[in-house]
Amino acid sequence: MVYLDHNATSPLRPEARAAVLAALDDGGNPSSVYAAGRKARATLERAREAVAVFACAKPDEVIFTSGGTEAIALALSGAVMASLEGGARITRLFVSAIEHDAVRANAAAVAERVAGLRIETIPVTGDGVIDLDALRGGLREGKGRALVAVMAANNETGVIQPVELVATLAREAVAFLLVDAIQAAGKIEIGRFSSHVDYMTLSAHKLGGPAGAGALIVKESAPLAPQTLGGGQEKRRRAGTENVSGIAGFGAAAAVVSANMKDETARVTALRDGFERELKRAFPGVTIFGETAPRLANTSNFAWPAMTAETAVMALDLEGVMVSSGAACSSGKVARSHVLEAMGVEERLARHALRASFGWNSAAADGIAAMAALTKIAARAHARDAA
Ligand code: PLP
Repeated sequence: MVYLDHNATSPLRPEARAAVLAALDDGGNPSSVYAAGRKARATLERAREAVAVFACAKPDEVIFTSGGTEAIALALSGAVMASLEGGARITRLFVSAIEHDAVRANAAAVAERVAGLRIETIPVTGDGVIDLDALRGGLREGKGRALVAVMAANNETGVIQPVELVATLAREAVAFLLVDAIQAAGKIEIGRFSSHVDYMTLSAHKLGGPAGAGALIVKESAPLAPQTLGGGQEKRRRAGTENVSGIAGFGAAAAVVSANMKDETARVTALRDGFERELKRAFPGVTIFGETAPRLANTSNFAWPAMTAETAVMALDLEGVMVSSGAACSSGKVARSHVLEAMGVEERLARHALRASFGWNSAAADGIAAMAALTKIAARAHARDAA
């Protein structure tokens, strides 16, 4: 089997698996004062330290959550709700047009709940990079405190966003900044901008940790109202007994990535570039989205002319190759990707969008097998059309 969908989820790294199993065996509630509790607490704090080092943050700034989506929801609701309680009230949410649905849906939900809170969409260029002039203009025009949400890299195209420049604009406008670094983490150096960001989100399963563990990194100066109440966990910012085994796996994955990112990125770049070279040679009509923008080294999002993405994903699966379609599928209907739409990609092209994403355990043979499957399927479709 060939797995080329690391942007959906990256297989569990052996180091993360070992840490998860050890923590499960240990048991204990980190809030308990006796030995088993103290051991679980030590595991939790070791993981916090590893995630903090990985994100160039302080351990106290790390709030563990049940994953990326919860971290995003906590940041958006937590910031807005805290701003209602005192200080400058957040009245505008600037959300880039290519954000993950977790950001788009939670921003919409909080705007619906809070009177006087408006959402402003930040457009992107044809290459999928956010339009900084539009953001600058928007921030200058309106009144009231703003919160800007821009992802560090897009999950569909891999296009890397100019977070440092966004941070400068946000600082000039005295706006808060939320960066969804879930897809960028482990693929680019997130430490280069993390100190300029008020809220940053991470998810373990994109790093080769287990699904169901994530983190919100929040600056001490940034407002945050807890969104779950009960126990005093995570310094009263996120109540609920911590998922110690998942978090242990998160910490282990973060530590491996911190140590190996340079080497892994170089290896994955060669695999992805080799794959795209062969793709363009075999299918001259192929369009690679975001090709001329800075892109994550592992991601290839392309319109494959031979057939629609929906059919291609199934045909590739039958050949043992797992990739995803660039379009989102919900309730049996394939919806057009909002990311490609925001980039101005025509619907007829977007319907052919496939995403292959490489990762820590990808091998040269995977790219070769995927190309062989694409060639075989295209030839079969061609023969069928000719008959
Ligand atoms: N943000 C981005 C950019 C993502 O790619 C994903 C997952 O696909 C999420 C948020 C949601 O993270 P999680 O699956 O941990 O809830």
